[in-house]
Amino acid sequence: MPGLDEKLHDTYAEVLRRNPGETEFHRAVHEVLDSLGSVVAKHPQYADSAVIRRLCEPERQVIFRVPWVDDHGVVQINRGFRVEFNSALGPYKGGLRFHPSVYLGIVKFLGFEQIFKNSLTGMPIGGGKGGSDFDPKGRSDGEVMRFCQAFMTELYRHLGEYTDVPAGDIGVGGREIGYLFGQYRRITNRYESGVLTGKGLTWGGSQVRTEATGYGTVFFVNEILATRSDSFDGKRVVVSGSGNVAIYAIEKVHQLGGLVVACSDSAGYVVDDKGIDLEVLKDVKATRRARITEYAEARGGAADYVGGRPVWEVPCDIALPCATQNELNGHDAGALVKNGCTVVAEGANMPCTPEAVKLLAGAGVVFAPGKAANAGGVATSALEMQQNASRDSWTFEHTEQRLSDIMRGIHDRCLETADEYGAPGDYLAGANIAGFTRVADAMLALGVI
Ligand code: NDP
Repeated sequence: MPGLDEKLHDTYAEVLRRNPGETEFHRAVHEVLDSLGSVVAKHPQYADSAVIRRLCEPERQVIFRVPWVDDHGVVQINRGFRVEFNSALGPYKGGLRFHPSVYLGIVKFLGFEQIFKNSLTGMPIGGGKGGSDFDPKGRSDGEVMRFCQAFMTELYRHLGEYTDVPAGDIGVGGREIGYLFGQYRRITNRYESGVLTGKGLTWGGSQVRTEATGYGTVFFVNEILATRSDSFDGKRVVVSGSGNVAIYAIEKVHQLGGLVVACSDSAGYVVDDKGIDLEVLKDVKATRRARITEYAEARGGAADYVGGRPVWEVPCDIALPCATQNELNGHDAGALVKNGCTVVAEGANMPCTPEAVKLLAGAGVVFAPGKAANAGGVATSALEMQQNASRDSWTFEHTEQRLSDIMRGIHDRCLETADEYGAPGDYLAGANIAGFTRVADAMLALGVI
């Protein structure tokens, strides 16, 4: 087991044995354990008390059938998941993903990451994740609504504002949260706003929640640049994806004086040297849910579409992977390094492969892992829960300031922790260790449960 401290070998071997075939989950666990060698050396109680082994085993995993009827009257069957991973710090909190690739291994990797991310925010939220192999692409509004209602008809019994509070993720945005919340309300006869986050502004949502993950990622990079007496001013930035996280990352980069010259979807990418026109991008991807080729068409000669190739071949100073896991591999990292990229920050969850992370580190590129850089989304979800609990709603400016402060706090915590454990400047080690120690200490305090 290369890289792992000897005390952690058995733990990792047990994870491999108990979770066969779940490669994404294996990798997420390995990445955290890889950072914990210096921690167990300094604090043997973490290994001795089996707290790490307990952390690797979800508290509860729910898998259920989701039957629904499509527009042609045909019964469709999907599979639903909710992995309630760890509640030592608060109710399970984490998004729902609707995508055909979803299976237990992906939900577990995301849930595991979520524990440390949520811990890093310093807020009272545990870790969980869920979703379905349902593919919303090409489905009518009516079909999406019936699917969401069927999904919630089973899931509702596991939720509650003090128990488990889902949000959105890939394929789950404001429309889906609306249908899910509506069905929860109908079944329970309770207007329990705090049971889901990412709600609309007129029915319990928070300002800035839609923008939070993308904005937060860019705030995090801004902090990195500030430590180097630098800023976004005049920087060329490449963003992958064109969904929720990507769109608002682009918006904030532009507000801070940088220029996003390329973004993508799952079929290809567009390059727009004058800067991505957000109004056009939002119309194509968020409103019409169309392909990104239509962005190039709408921009006439100003933008080019390149199909089937990685967006990372476009030269940039800063790269923000904001689409999906394993979308930036060693080859892509090599291209970024060759073209002079100096910072890579993950807006998505685990978009960089281990080879890419290693190559970037070796080349001196600053790497900000998703569990730190994209924590702004869940942090703002926790702010939404606060507002729901107090029957209050805050202004955009106030909420954005809170988000910016939270991202600065996470950034500083990563750097200070990396320093303390002998890995100065290593954001990955800092995030893993700081996230781990807070949740592990809570688990120790709560006893063996
Ligand atoms: P969306 O569904 O809104 O957008 C996903 C985007 O990624 C789409 O543009 C999609 O393209 C694109 N995409 C999917 N697969 C690929 C691929 N292989 N190559 C290039 N592009 C691809 O999801 P979100 O923006 O909400 O989520 C993006 C990432 O951010 C995920 O990893 C998610 O877990 C993470 N995240 C999200 C948070 C949130 O608040 N939403 C919070 C924290 C993390 P297409 O249109 O073709 O499908």
